[in-house]
Amino acid sequence: MAARLDEKLELIYDDVLHRNPGETEFHQAVHEVLETLGPVLVKYPEFAEKKIIQRICEPERQIIFRVPWQDDNGEIHINRAFRVEFNSALGPYKGGMRFHPSVYLGIIKFLGFEQIFKNALTGLPIGGGKGGSDFDPKGRSDDEIMRFCQSLMTELSRHIGEYTDVPAGDIGVGQREIGYMFGQYKRITNRYESGVLTGKGLDWGGSRARTEATGYGTVFFTNEMLKARGDSIEGKKVVVSGSGNVAIYAIAKAHELGATVIACSDSAGFIIDEKGIDLAALKQIKLTERRRICDYTEFHKDAKYVEGGSLWSIPCDIALPCATQNELNANDAKALIENGCIAVAEGANMPTTPEGIALFQQSSLLYAPGKAANAGGVATSALEMQQNASRDSWTFDYTQKRLEDIMIDIHKSCYETAAEFGAEGNYVLGANVTGFIKVARAMEAMGV
Ligand code: GLU
Repeated sequence: MAARLDEKLELIYDDVLHRNPGETEFHQAVHEVLETLGPVLVKYPEFAEKKIIQRICEPERQIIFRVPWQDDNGEIHINRAFRVEFNSALGPYKGGMRFHPSVYLGIIKFLGFEQIFKNALTGLPIGGGKGGSDFDPKGRSDDEIMRFCQSLMTELSRHIGEYTDVPAGDIGVGQREIGYMFGQYKRITNRYESGVLTGKGLDWGGSRARTEATGYGTVFFTNEMLKARGDSIEGKKVVVSGSGNVAIYAIAKAHELGATVIACSDSAGFIIDEKGIDLAALKQIKLTERRRICDYTEFHKDAKYVEGGSLWSIPCDIALPCATQNELNANDAKALIENGCIAVAEGANMPTTPEGIALFQQSSLLYAPGKAANAGGVATSALEMQQNASRDSWTFDYTQKRLEDIMIDIHKSCYETAAEFGAEGNYVLGANVTGFIKVARAMEAMGV
């Protein structure tokens, strides 16, 4: 791990290790938050007395269940699904569902833990939760996806609701999957309970700008960091990892604000297009046709495809990791710093390893952790819940403006909190401490 903890926090961390054996991603996420909480306990000793950190580290409820389903050949498959209802001090549990073969309890707990602080940062009334399954959607037909989603929801429906727990999408779960899950929830409960899931289609209770929100928000946040240094994203060269929903809309907003995104990737490799990534081609390949990024060269012969390897060795001004956890390691961080990168903002959850983060923090580069930089997605989910509760539907411009204002506010509070604790420019501390204090105060107010 990157940094040592204060003695009191080390004991808390040891306890987390013992209670949650083998859940390395969860350990990593907890350690990263604890590293920044030392000064908070000095300023607010009551949080230590009330054991707020120990209570936050233990999920309020963890549900693990079987998901049996039948493929197109009639063969039966059994997957495992999870919903970790981590913390409800600020509102109903809120967070996405991830469908990916790497999913196990440790991944869902790291994501759920991060979600608590991220959701607190949005300033909206949402608690933290996360779910998912080890189901691999790759190569599955539409019917198979539907049967899987229906089977999963048959059990999940007992545990969720607009006032209890509100799932959404994440890796492997987009509007199609939300639709199949919402349909099954509606059949089982006989309730048109729009606010039970977010990320819905526009015709059936979804919010405008939700699809774009995470990527847009990451770019808004990046621009705010640069503005605080008297700079802006305009004219900058950007590298984005991933080519899913987050990456695509980060590229779109970066281009809209005058930057040029020259590279993006999928799990097999990356493409470089010095003219700037052609968004229409990328959307056709990845969203419409669900193909591989290597096919981009069919549209642009002068673009280069590199199989495997790390796209963080490409010289750029701004790096936006928008793929998955631990995708940017110490070597990548070194390469970015040496090549003169000035800002890194995380569109994905925990994409930088602890060693990578430490290097960024020792450099003069601006580094925004995912909790702050990718909060735009869940913030807009909360705006979707607001529209559902008031049976309203806002315009794209209004919703996008709300999102932008939220990202500006998150930046401001992270920046100011870091300065207040004598760590100006440290967005890791700023994000963790701002989020933690909000949750801690609510937990204290509500008693043990
Ligand atoms: N999966 C997204 C995240 O990591 C969005 C969650 C949501 O909209 O509830 O924050």
